Amino acid sequence: MSLSLRQQALRKIPSVDEILSRPETVDLLKVHPRNVVVKAIRKGLGQLREEILHHKELSQWGDALFSFEHLYPLFQKEIDLQIQPRLRRVINATGVVIHTNLGRSPLHPSAIEHLIDVSKSYSNLEYDIDLGERGSRYTHVEEILCRLSGAESALVVNNNAGAVLLALNTLAEGKEVIVSRGELIEIGGAFRIPDVMKRSGAILREVGTTNRTHISDYQKAIGPQTALLLKVHTSNFRVMGFTSEVSLQDLVQLGREHHFPVVDDLGSGCLVDLSLYGLEKEPTVQETIKTGVGAVTFSGDKLLGGPQAGIILGKKTFLDLFKINPLTRALRIDKLTLAALESTLLLYLDEKRAMDEIPTLRMLSLDTSKLKRRGRRLLKKLQGMMNKRMTFTLKEDVSQVGGGALPLQELPTMVIAIKPLDFSVNSLEENLRKGDPPIISRISKEELILDMRTVFDEEIPLLVAGLEKALKHLQSQ
Ligand SMILES: *Cc1c(COP(=O)(O)O)cnc(C)c1O
Repeated sequence: MSLSLRQQALRKIPSVDEILSRPETVDLLKVHPRNVVVKAIRKGLGQLREEILHHKELSQWGDALFSFEHLYPLFQKEIDLQIQPRLRRVINATGVVIHTNLGRSPLHPSAIEHLIDVSKSYSNLEYDIDLGERGSRYTHVEEILCRLSGAESALVVNNNAGAVLLALNTLAEGKEVIVSRGELIEIGGAFRIPDVMKRSGAILREVGTTNRTHISDYQKAIGPQTALLLKVHTSNFRVMGFTSEVSLQDLVQLGREHHFPVVDDLGSGCLVDLSLYGLEKEPTVQETIKTGVGAVTFSGDKLLGGPQAGIILGKKTFLDLFKINPLTRALRIDKLTLAALESTLLLYLDEKRAMDEIPTLRMLSLDTSKLKRRGRRLLKKLQGMMNKRMTFTLKEDVSQVGGGALPLQELPTMVIAIKPLDFSVNSLEENLRKGDPPIISRISKEELILDMRTVFDEEIPLLVAGLEKALKHLQSQ
């Protein structure tokens, strides 16, 4: 009995050893490690097997399918997948400025230069150059942080979640921490105040209700077990309507009367009063410090526009305790981050420069006329590109701040909306996303939206090339 066409084809698949002995493979082996090449061949042949079993039309099976010309690109693609980094730059066309999934804040060039300079050689990370003896990594940014914020003392750790954990553990392990029910928040990525509290060894004492908490609620909860009053910035949501919260000022006053420290998890933490630049009012770090709070914590990569870090500012008596907690060693900031953070902070010595140059702040304050200009530039290059199969429109829309900051702020923006006429908008989105570099966009009402706010001018040619490639791919389908 003769074999089916499928079985015959499967038998024609060359073995890994056969492929390895080909002169073309010998060339591959000159460039790439053997284990990489062998794995790529196995995967490439596996794909061919799949194609034969499931996809290919029987009539299309010619010997060409088994030729090295057909197989080589499969192997090359599999090799590339192995040797290219998985973590890569992407183009953010979503309009979400502090996009946690896309790495939050892009760094300022001076921060990038600084981290390269410090990391390619040795550094004075924990060495005091003046004294010629051991120093501390924490001193490098302490002075600038105190100068910018007005705080007595400063400490930086790995991230803000770590900063909160450290504060709670140092000041309230085994004791009670009083928090308003309206502030028991969850930040994306499994950061929940009650869970962090548990891990810190502190005991949560909830007071008030979801929408209203009064100073008397805190007063009534104070007892022999109380160690700390915690305020948490409700970063990513707002309770609207019949609401009431106790101001930090009043909490600090209450803490003073009963000799408890107050810690404020500010979340985003901004050194600039954004209301001066047409944005919603957020309490600044300086205003928070002025209340006399014991310690305030915030992220380095949200509104500050720097690298991932947790910044703790406040009274020296408390910060000194944080510094000797063994947890600080486990949460310590690394030198690349420290370099990028220091350079970012130095930009704040000139507030106007910080607003103009720190990418996150610059993107937040871009007005629609600039965004329109960027959109027009892109539109000009797109017109004529397969214009029978889609329409391109430059139109008004809104972008978001993201990163749990200013959740109600609507930023008027300009977007390019692409409406495919004879293929699905989802396939266009997918093709852009799987391009190189990946272009991350959003879909709204059957249109693909490219928000001009979070795309850099330098990225316009990449965006054009990415769209061209995606469209070519869709055309061939
Ligand atoms: C973002 C945020 C955190 C977590 O900060 P990370 O830097 O992501 O660790 C904690 N608390 C609040 C209020 C936040 O907004």
